[in-house]
Amino acid sequence: MNKDMEVFEQLESGVRSYVRSFPTVFTKTKGYKMWNAEGEEYIDFFSGAGALNYGHNDDHMKQKLIEYITSDGITHSLDMASEAKAEFLTKFNDIILQPRNLDYRIMFPGPTGTNTVESALKLARKVTGRTDVISFTNGFHGMTIGSLSVTGNSMKRKGAGIPLQNVVTMPYDNYVNEQDSIDYLERFLEDSGSGVAIPAAMILETVQGEGGINAASFEWLKKVERVCKRWGILLIVDDVQAGIGRTGSFFSFEPAGIKPDIICLSKSLSGYGLPLAVTLIRPDIDKFSPGEHNGTFRGNNHAFITASAALDYWKDDQLEQNIHEKSEITLAFLNQLVEKYPALEGEVRGRGLMVGVACGADGLAGKIAAEAFQRGLIMETAGPNDEVFKLFPALNIDEAGLRQGLAIIEDSIKEVLR
Ligand code: PMP
Repeated sequence: MNKDMEVFEQLESGVRSYVRSFPTVFTKTKGYKMWNAEGEEYIDFFSGAGALNYGHNDDHMKQKLIEYITSDGITHSLDMASEAKAEFLTKFNDIILQPRNLDYRIMFPGPTGTNTVESALKLARKVTGRTDVISFTNGFHGMTIGSLSVTGNSMKRKGAGIPLQNVVTMPYDNYVNEQDSIDYLERFLEDSGSGVAIPAAMILETVQGEGGINAASFEWLKKVERVCKRWGILLIVDDVQAGIGRTGSFFSFEPAGIKPDIICLSKSLSGYGLPLAVTLIRPDIDKFSPGEHNGTFRGNNHAFITASAALDYWKDDQLEQNIHEKSEITLAFLNQLVEKYPALEGEVRGRGLMVGVACGADGLAGKIAAEAFQRGLIMETAGPNDEVFKLFPALNIDEAGLRQGLAIIEDSIKEVLR
């Protein structure tokens, strides 16, 4: 064993962390590749759990960051005004919001995904004066008490004794059914004797990431939006994982044609793996008073610098084109794989480069991911029983790298089913 591995086992926890899934010490990364201390190369289909959509150590972002650091630019400034922050806000508005005809105020809620979710839940309750929140089975929204209570995974919640009161988790009927959970909710709301209070908000992922790559149909999303509008329920789209291009467009909900009231973004927002989160708020409901929601690390200027550079990739449609092309290759490959290996009992899921294969037998997806790691591919599992192996390549991956990774998946499946 590499001597550093012992450090992790003894001092961190080899049991809890990703050290366990990927037991090697990494030293270097570039694009979609990673190398360990022994110089062995890995293809990365994990991408920092969606925090590295542009790949590792992108040259454009790196250059901007180096220039900024060498000029002694401000690093941490709470949420004071800084040039780097102004540049980010301007570019986010000019490159992302305006061309999409979206009008949102941008709030910095804290450094990570869970911070943006917490701010969204708090704001929805404050603005509506209501308390209840609807979330969905297998949704994942974070690990702090509020965001965990809307996370539809009992294993993750029960140790902490949650959900909190006032959270109702409903089935994620991601396709419109005759009588789906949204219809039931409406029937309760219409019945003044039902005792069901009108909720403050609904929170959802358009494609559930941790929950197993469950993609909601555009029709269902439109229906959710319609019901929210009718009852004045605020629609919170948690785009922490599905956003920033992962499903094919900057915001995952764009092709559904819906406009959420509040949007949560983090993970790949900084583009470079630096912590950054925003909460996008419909201007008329931007009702936080000064200091009402704050936090020390809301102004990581290094993250603003790389995030601004990352936005340059959205000035034309080259990146989106690549996601689209590589998505087609990936989905075609996986569909053919599932047919070729019926013992997988596989179901291909996803949209864009947020893709997974649900496997029938218990533990199979984990075995495939473990075998793939032995063969030089980093891949995670997802779903309530870890029954899905999840493909999250860099969005700018080239065809050779993608096919190399896909071939490792096929070889791993062959080995595991042997
Ligand atoms: N929302 C979604 C959809 C996520 O996937 C995650 C993280 N996996 C979070 C929120 C929480 O983000 P963080 O881990 O940065 O707190």
